[in-house]
Amino acid sequence: MLKKAQSIHDKLVQWRRQIHRHPELGFQELQTAQLVAETCRQLGWRVKTFVGKTGVVAELGEGKPCVGLRADMDALPIQEINDVEYASEIPGVMHACGHDAHTAMLLGVATLLEKETFPGKVRLLFQPAEEVGDEEGISGAPRMIADGAADDLDAVFALHVDSNLSVGKITINSGYSSAGVDTFYAAVIGNGGHGAFPHRTVDPIYLTSLVIQAINGIVSRRIHPFEPAVVSIGAVHGGAASNVIPDQVELIGTIRYLQPEVQQIIQQEVENALQITRPLGGDYQLKWEIGYPPMLNHPQAVEIIRTVAKQMLGEDQVGIPDNEMGAEDFGFFTQKAPGAMFYLGAKIEGDVRYGHQSRFDIDERCLPIGTALLAQTALTHLRSHPLI
Ligand SMILES: [Zn+2]
Ligand SMILES: [Zn+2]
Repeated sequence: MLKKAQSIHDKLVQWRRQIHRHPELGFQELQTAQLVAETCRQLGWRVKTFVGKTGVVAELGEGKPCVGLRADMDALPIQEINDVEYASEIPGVMHACGHDAHTAMLLGVATLLEKETFPGKVRLLFQPAEEVGDEEGISGAPRMIADGAADDLDAVFALHVDSNLSVGKITINSGYSSAGVDTFYAAVIGNGGHGAFPHRTVDPIYLTSLVIQAINGIVSRRIHPFEPAVVSIGAVHGGAASNVIPDQVELIGTIRYLQPEVQQIIQQEVENALQITRPLGGDYQLKWEIGYPPMLNHPQAVEIIRTVAKQMLGEDQVGIPDNEMGAEDFGFFTQKAPGAMFYLGAKIEGDVRYGHQSRFDIDERCLPIGTALLAQTALTHLRSHPLI
């Protein structure tokens, strides 16, 4: 399968660069979706467009089992600074997370699997908006699932490029492999006035300093030391003049967790921290935006990927990723069907280009490898369907 994927290397690079030049933000992936839909139709896949707003679903084969392969298509609001022939042509928008590569590889899978025979059905899930939610705070995966994209799925697989892992290697772990995330929007409400007469005010900046202390105590004082948890305040806004105490201060923050109980504790403790304002004469408002669930890799799905990758790349090329608290909305798909995501080595040796940076880039030699791994994983699942 790797040889077959390498024979379409130029095509993979061409797709990736075409998408890279024309990046589109979440739920605006119209050109990308059109390229995907047209390519899959020409290859003989049954194609549905506008699934989950701008997503595309393509199917080949009939009946059960049904295996899903997912690629995200959205770009980020970042100005690319790379001076390459395929650099973004859209000011302020860039594929800085590698979703262009994910989409190109899934088109590669469409090309390779069209030539194979297999029992059951393959469903390609070209997903919009992994990085952002819409006006209701809902991202691409749950939007596609609401439109039926995960119905009857028996297993689902995906990959993400890792620009800090050498080409030819992959990493994957069993169990929780990315964090759940929620966002909070809080307002600390006081009663403003002249900076020279603080005794006539309820100073929300002072109250906020206490709230920040309390919020930063949550992980160290309220969460079990063996449980991963993060609470970070990313924005504090209040006041405009040296001699005016404002009426309120706004706080925005993110929380990360693996276990649902930890999510509950953190949410309650953020509320408790804000309640400090009340005995001191102030008040607060708190709104939660519930984000992505933790991504759970099913042990058997992980085993299929590991076996395929070891055969294709070599025993010592398959590792375990470092633990970290990033979030990934593929977790919505693995709530619907057993599945797993692996990280694909895509590093430019000697010059690491981290994701979400204006210098991000990958070594394109990873493209046939990711394509072959996804295609072979799907076939292996369909031919042995151990998850049913
Ligand atoms: Zn990203
Ligand atoms: Zn990403």
